[in-house]
Amino acid sequence: MTFPTLETVIGLETHVQLRTKSKMFCRCDNSGEDQEPNTTVCPVCMGHPGTLPVPNEQAIAWAAKVALALHCKVSRQSKFDRKSYFYPDLPKGYQISQFDQPIGKDGYLMVHVGKKPVRVRIERVHLEEDSAKLVHAPDGKSTLIDFNRAGTPLVEIVTKPDIQSPAVAKAFLQGLRLIMRYLGVSDADMEKGHLRCDANISLKPIPEHFGRAKKKFGLEGDVTTLFPKTEVKNLNSFKAVERALEFETKRQSALWYDGKPPLVAVTRGWDDKKMGTVQHRDKEAAHDYRYFPEPDLTPITFTKAQLDGLERDMPELPYEKRDRFESQFGMRGADAAILVDDLRVAHFFEEVVSELKAWLVSLEEVEGTEQEIWESHKAKLVNQVVSWITTKLFTLLNERRQSIDEAKITPENFAELMTMMYKRRINASVAQTVLEKMFVSGEDPSDIVEAGNLGQVSGEKELTEIIDAVINENAGMVDQFKKGKTPVLQFLIGQAMKKSKGKADPKVIRELLIHRLA
Ligand code: ADP
Ligand code: ZN
Ligand code: MG
Repeated sequence: MTFPTLETVIGLETHVQLRTKSKMFCRCDNSGEDQEPNTTVCPVCMGHPGTLPVPNEQAIAWAAKVALALHCKVSRQSKFDRKSYFYPDLPKGYQISQFDQPIGKDGYLMVHVGKKPVRVRIERVHLEEDSAKLVHAPDGKSTLIDFNRAGTPLVEIVTKPDIQSPAVAKAFLQGLRLIMRYLGVSDADMEKGHLRCDANISLKPIPEHFGRAKKKFGLEGDVTTLFPKTEVKNLNSFKAVERALEFETKRQSALWYDGKPPLVAVTRGWDDKKMGTVQHRDKEAAHDYRYFPEPDLTPITFTKAQLDGLERDMPELPYEKRDRFESQFGMRGADAAILVDDLRVAHFFEEVVSELKAWLVSLEEVEGTEQEIWESHKAKLVNQVVSWITTKLFTLLNERRQSIDEAKITPENFAELMTMMYKRRINASVAQTVLEKMFVSGEDPSDIVEAGNLGQVSGEKELTEIIDAVINENAGMVDQFKKGKTPVLQFLIGQAMKKSKGKADPKVIRELLIHRLA
């Protein structure tokens, strides 16, 4: 009997810091991470006795938007609860959070990894306050506390254990980050701790092998049973999440193969230097947070009109934009995903497209309305534009470490260049040269082409002369071609292109050569 096959079960708990002006329950500046320690504080966020919290309306509205973006149900009423525990970074001895009535619940996010999108269900989206930050001295002898972070609004997003691979976990988090950026509620930078994630992982036998595994390990339950999870903390980058989960998959598989599947839930921390997870020292005790309704705050209520207003204010979200790009322009999902991954790139692309229509009409010889001409060229032209943005333009941006809105190239000029190339006024290699010049100077492509005399050599007389010369100068090669050595053609095309100083259309040269040598 072969060993039962195991599958991976992952659920993520993610915290996102909201970039509101002030903190969650006081008027302190919420940009404390860029300020001197303990300067953006007040008696409320320092937890002094007798102070009262006043909720931040903006944070509540943003948390509701996050919930809506994740397809959650946002209830008309939710409330705050106290979660009690002791830790030096928690001055009140409790955290104001939400327990049984979160802002949003029962949502999902589609994650694209590989061909088939995966649906990851969201259990809940709730609002809470952040703790202070502990700063450990390098000598390990003391710990300092910076209260600037205390009271920053956090949205916590908890998934169902629906994630089946580390790659999907990583893509889910990247999807969350993008949504936060589109909503404008957080930079969601993991490296800066604006997005923090605890990853829960366990293994279980695949349903087909459950019966067999049950006997072998003396397991309880049925095919739906989940086994004790390991919670992995200290994940400070998307890469760390993926690596830690891959490490855990291996570590836990080894335990199963040894006949010792994990029997208790544990907490481990990711260690970037060791490239592994290490068991946390504190013994896992069942926490009792003694949740109870926060007596200093009234429940959060939304009127129907407020909820409708929030829905109406929602921007187009990344997954919606992606779908629209696919259906509107017939582009591949993977291409749409690349454009959508940076809102500035998506904007640039859309502006280029709207400029393209005008350029196409101005360069088009045939009759028709702008829309008719556009429809007949759209698919090919957009395809060319996407490929030039994501390869050539991205390369130039990467080399100079610039973002697209810092570059000198305007959508209008880029659209003109794309149309010139599409209409074969210039060939691809000239277009590349022009693009590089435009990138540096911000000049108009037609000016660059004119000034450099880079226009396509397409006059019949000029081309015939070039072809004649190539045939005369390469009699040996021509002979070989005629004897059936067809790859020689490529060499002859190359010679002709050289003579035209790269300005001829290689396709036309090819046709003329074949015609002459036939
Ligand atoms: P806890 O009681 O430890 O808070 P929850 O049931 O609230 O656990 O789940 C916390 C997170 O852990 C959720 O994202 C959930 O999907 C995930 N999770 C729960 N059980 C498992 C399991 N057996 N394996 C993997 N992930 C799990
Ligand atoms: Zn304060
Ligand atoms: Mg829980």
